Amino acid sequence: MSFLVTGIGELVTNDPSTPGAISEELCPGALGVVRDAAVAVEEGRIAWVGPAAQAPAADWRVDLEGRAVVPGFVDSHAHLVFAGDRSAEFAARMTGTPYDGGGIAVSVAATRAASDDELRRLLVRRVDEMRAQGSTTIEVKSGYGLTVADEVRALRLAREVTDEVTFLGAHVVPAEFADDRAAYVDLVTGEMLAACAPLARWIDVFCEPHSAHAFDEQESRAILLAGRAAGLELRVHGNQLGHGPGVALAVELGAASVDHCTYLSDADIDALAGSATGDDGTVATLLPGVEFSTRSPYPDARRLLDAGVAVALASDCNPGTCYSSSMPLAMALAVREMGLTPAEALSAATLGSARSLRRDDIGRVTVGARADLTALEAPSYLHLAYRPGVPIARALDLGA
Ligand SMILES: [Zn+2]
Repeated sequence: MSFLVTGIGELVTNDPSTPGAISEELCPGALGVVRDAAVAVEEGRIAWVGPAAQAPAADWRVDLEGRAVVPGFVDSHAHLVFAGDRSAEFAARMTGTPYDGGGIAVSVAATRAASDDELRRLLVRRVDEMRAQGSTTIEVKSGYGLTVADEVRALRLAREVTDEVTFLGAHVVPAEFADDRAAYVDLVTGEMLAACAPLARWIDVFCEPHSAHAFDEQESRAILLAGRAAGLELRVHGNQLGHGPGVALAVELGAASVDHCTYLSDADIDALAGSATGDDGTVATLLPGVEFSTRSPYPDARRLLDAGVAVALASDCNPGTCYSSSMPLAMALAVREMGLTPAEALSAATLGSARSLRRDDIGRVTVGARADLTALEAPSYLHLAYRPGVPIARALDLGA
């Protein structure tokens, strides 16, 4: 079964070598924009891309009547397996209560108490919500179970909705271990890791000495090294609440991504820029929905890009610091609050976040890539930042 998606007024491919690609001020060459374009799809993969007038025949035609199409958004950082409601905490924060990571315990208690069916229902609803806003690849972390059985359960559920599953037993030290942090690190690196590693691709740690609930450099290093020894690839939550060791540790250990990067030293930026030259470097993933929802200062994204750092954007959808699953919102904030151009924001939310997952089959519209296309109710990708809060993006279902 082959599809031809045609009538695309403006197609962003992220590939400058696409036939018919233009290079203009608002459509820089790197975006690989083709006007009046078509995409042929066979068995969930892209078979042909170019001007509609040259398109091959297909079993089915989908005419988008001039809408813009972009690569499906890659949301490389999301916490979706949780129960409970923390809207009151958000309301308190908006009137001045600072965030310190302590509210995670509320979600942990509610998640442990929820049935499998309840957690699955909540997870599937969140994934549907994300696809309805144009996300086609979603990373899902555990981290609200924090017992062996509850972390295993979260990862099993995550595997039902994505291949990008991340073990985050080191989200916070649960209350029952508050007086013996070392015992919790032993559990995470021992029995819990042994049970969880076969269910996950990634291990992540909330490396944040500014939070009494998260993990310091030494603990984070032990957790990441144990994860790597168990066959997992590395991601890090770092430098969210203040300057700290997260970025340096992530680069040193070759993590695929260090996420947040809100407080960076010159040395952090140099380290990230140095690692960006190789395919196995560390991507700086920015999560501006968090700064928006916690009323915190935004990371200096302009400085990262100008230094040559590989930058990604993701939602960090989670019940505490950002209960938004919207990649278009992340892009709008990146443009409005962090000084990215609309082209840089879209690139970070597709190609950049694909790179942070070490994937080259997503985040681009090229022959052989997954047919993950997002259509916009708009003539141009510029509307993603231009029309914040308006649901113009939706993932196309092409059997990918
Ligand atoms: Zn997170």
